[in-house]
Amino acid sequence: MSLVLKFGGSSVADATCIRRVAEIVRAAAPRSPVVVLSAMGKTTDGLFAAAQTAERGETEAALRALREIVAKHKKACVELWEGEPPVDLQQFIEALSTQIDMLLRGVSLLRELSARSRDAIVSFGELMSSQIVAAFLHSRSVPTSWLDVRRVMRTDARFGEAEPQAAQISALARTELVPLMAEGRVVVTQGYIGATKDGITTTLGRGGSDYSASLIGAAIGAAEVQIWTDVEGILTADPRMVAEPTPILELSFREAAELAAFGAKVLHPATIQPAVEANIPVTVRHTMRPDGKFSTITALGGTGSPRPATAIASRGPIQVITIESTRMLAQSGFLARIFEVFGRLGVSVDVVATAEVSVSLTVEANAPIDAIRKELGAFAHVSVAADRALVALVGERLKHTPGLAARVFGALSSINVEMISMGSNEINLSLVVERKDEAAAVRLLHQALFEGNGDSK
Ligand code: ADP
Ligand code: ASP
Ligand code: MG
Repeated sequence: MSLVLKFGGSSVADATCIRRVAEIVRAAAPRSPVVVLSAMGKTTDGLFAAAQTAERGETEAALRALREIVAKHKKACVELWEGEPPVDLQQFIEALSTQIDMLLRGVSLLRELSARSRDAIVSFGELMSSQIVAAFLHSRSVPTSWLDVRRVMRTDARFGEAEPQAAQISALARTELVPLMAEGRVVVTQGYIGATKDGITTTLGRGGSDYSASLIGAAIGAAEVQIWTDVEGILTADPRMVAEPTPILELSFREAAELAAFGAKVLHPATIQPAVEANIPVTVRHTMRPDGKFSTITALGGTGSPRPATAIASRGPIQVITIESTRMLAQSGFLARIFEVFGRLGVSVDVVATAEVSVSLTVEANAPIDAIRKELGAFAHVSVAADRALVALVGERLKHTPGLAARVFGALSSINVEMISMGSNEINLSLVVERKDEAAAVRLLHQALFEGNGDSK
């Protein structure tokens, strides 16, 4: 059975990294892998910035930004081929760069940047990186087909945050992708981007290449989806917050999904869902240390482990909305009315804690607070606390570990914990703290639960 190999932005950031990627892909070639690529390094950020610059009418600055991005790609090509890259690759880069140039000029003239135009502009990054890697593999004598993923990755038309249509993706994969797969051959394609049924380019949201990889994995019935990145797997905490988090060698789909949803950037939050449905293991590996440690995520992964907690994730800023009933509504009716409002406004709620006549819940920092206040104000008293963060302790054994709560709150005695909620699946203990305390809370919890006592393994 085949493999999906997804390489993130830092894994294809320059010629040195791309050489590593080529070695990893070459070793996997006998298993007819599908290689899903992100844009090089910070290309997507650069394209977003160029589009915004154009929207302000600053045509020259936007085109300059584009030229810099194109130059970075050309430089990587010159380094990879130690001289002149293949002519058709050069032509591809020129053609794409002309298209983006025209799009940026159009945006600048109109001073209008629709989500649809933005998706067309930012899709450049993945189209470019995937062409470079495909051409490089080819020149290293690895039989390679380049696939424009928009032929397969069917989505709805919610530009910027498009919803993939799994059934259609599977059907399209059978006709457009599977015929390209063969033993010893590699298919190279793009993460993050897709297309509507009319062929209009969409994107799956920032960090969406992981999601693309698992969707493709499910569509082709892959034996494994490998996420190649710049860490040795999913770690016990965000390495940008904790000095020495340790890799989690095995974890369950549920744990990985919770960690991703609660801020562990290493996986896009939707990545696990297609893998669960198709029961495909997902591994997370370090491109620069292919022989190092890595995480394996499966249905029952790590569930036999005695560790009390698996990892910590955090996400901020978020807002906490507290809603108190002004009328004597029965609680069930009160909650129903509240959630009807959030549903209608399309606001997703992450954590909920209820009391007799009040309920607190967390929403994203950019939730439409004025509209929420107005709607809920008709039947309740509403207060909002902004600049908060969610800190989540995740693990299959949380509820089976006596004394865990005491350890958690002991560790956080110096921090004001404003809200506590045990997720209904009982593998996620979420806390709300002020944003300024987020990093300290993560560090203190990590110290208390993972450092020095061997618990994390
Ligand atoms: P890629 O470009 O490969 O998709 P990302 O930057 O999206 O990589 O994700 C990898 C990064 O996620 C790591 O470099 C790390 O800083 C961050 N991260 C946050 N939480 C975790 C965690 N629990 N385990 C591993 N990495 C994490
Ligand atoms: N290139 C896209 C981004 O930066 C998608 C990804 O890397 O996963 O968001
Ligand atoms: Mg990522």
